[in-house]
Amino acid sequence: MEVHKFGGTSVSSEEGLRTLEASAASGHVIVVSALAGVTDALEDFVRRAAEGSADPTPILERHREFIAEHLEQRHEEVESFLKDMESLLHSVVTVLEQLGRPEERLRDLVLSLGERASARIVAAYLRELGIKAVAYDAWDVGLVTTDDPGNADIIRWDGTRSRLLRDLRSGRVPVITGFIGRSDRGHVTTLGRGGSDYTATVLAGVLGSRSVIWTDVDGIMTADPELVDAEVVERLSYEEAVMAGASGAEVIHPKAVEAAKNLGVTVLIGNSFTGEIGTVISDSTEPGPKVVASRDDVALIRVSGARMVDEPGVVGRVTSALGNAGVNLLAVFTTVSEPYINLLVEETNLKSAEEALNGLDYDWEVDKDVGLVTVIGEGMSARDVSEFLAACEEFDLLGSAHRVVAVSVVVPESEIREVTRRLAERLLV
Ligand code: ADP
Ligand code: ASP
Ligand code: MG
Repeated sequence: MEVHKFGGTSVSSEEGLRTLEASAASGHVIVVSALAGVTDALEDFVRRAAEGSADPTPILERHREFIAEHLEQRHEEVESFLKDMESLLHSVVTVLEQLGRPEERLRDLVLSLGERASARIVAAYLRELGIKAVAYDAWDVGLVTTDDPGNADIIRWDGTRSRLLRDLRSGRVPVITGFIGRSDRGHVTTLGRGGSDYTATVLAGVLGSRSVIWTDVDGIMTADPELVDAEVVERLSYEEAVMAGASGAEVIHPKAVEAAKNLGVTVLIGNSFTGEIGTVISDSTEPGPKVVASRDDVALIRVSGARMVDEPGVVGRVTSALGNAGVNLLAVFTTVSEPYINLLVEETNLKSAEEALNGLDYDWEVDKDVGLVTVIGEGMSARDVSEFLAACEEFDLLGSAHRVVAVSVVVPESEIREVTRRLAERLLV
């Protein structure tokens, strides 16, 4: 028995559903994401509701269309859920119009509807195929999260193991919502965008099994196949996969790999369209560079001022001010005796960062038009690193760790594809 997770495009396509059926028929636990595009649509809905112009109809239609296409019978559980979803979304429109701004708990509640609807629809689909599937919200199987809206962690699994094993022994297939949870305070939470992978690896840890992440590409590739021609990477260590996910390879969520490492779970990544596994994430890896990942959702802040050159504690003052403002610093790079500090932040944190820096007595400027390109691989040689340096000589370099797992470069956003191609060609063939 394993835990098999199906991403949005995988639960929404004929081929993906066939792989899902095969997994369920083999008695694996199923974790599902929302139908393709639904989480984005719900996120957009919350933003528009606060602006007074949201309409839940297209989101409900999306589910109705899926049902018309894939289900033959009427399923009471699905129908009553969609009715509740519709009235909840209408209430949210009223509440957010009054508030005039998005509210993070309400956002989580709304986003959770995508996975909750999908689990019920997928379970109904499997039942029509003669498989005894049962839909569960994450809290129904005892998963408990921290109370942080938008980025909660799974901290407990009360009775989860016995509950799931009881179902499996009686021939029932649990179909569980990924990405969402509930805290001890009773709040519905989400685990971070792309977080269904994380639910799957935690459940695999609880069950002492492997976790299979079925997605729309062949595995973790040498680079984002949407950017360049890429090949499957057959083996990655946990450390490499965490770095790949965190550096922009969205095919696997870094929290999922972190959990897998802590709970001793081997993670397999496969293409739900072909049913083939491409990548295995475990303790073992070959030395050398393996993946080029990139992010375009970052901004570079350059803090400067002549007096910074010999001012003690300046880096600490700047980073504490940002930390206190809740800004997640992706990188800090500065050179001895240069009068500036470069900070890399997520664009979503930029407003808080600017407010924090306004409270300090330094000059600063922001460049939003940048991207971060990272080469990942344990045991990169000096030759690999010098190839990297040679390929990126005209850009700002970020420092590399002593035991090199990743080397990054900040490039103009328009250069991401070209630098990715160049690095993949020079280092990964
Ligand atoms: P799912 O809905 O199955 O969770 P995601 O969209 O989260 O799928 O992740 C799969 C996508 O990740 C791919 O379609 C691909 O465009 C993107 N991606 C980015 N970098 C990589 C990489 N190095 N290897 C594979 N896919 C990548
Ligand atoms: N549906 C969620 C998202 O789009 C979670 C996931 O796909 O893993 O972020
Ligand atoms: Mg994903």
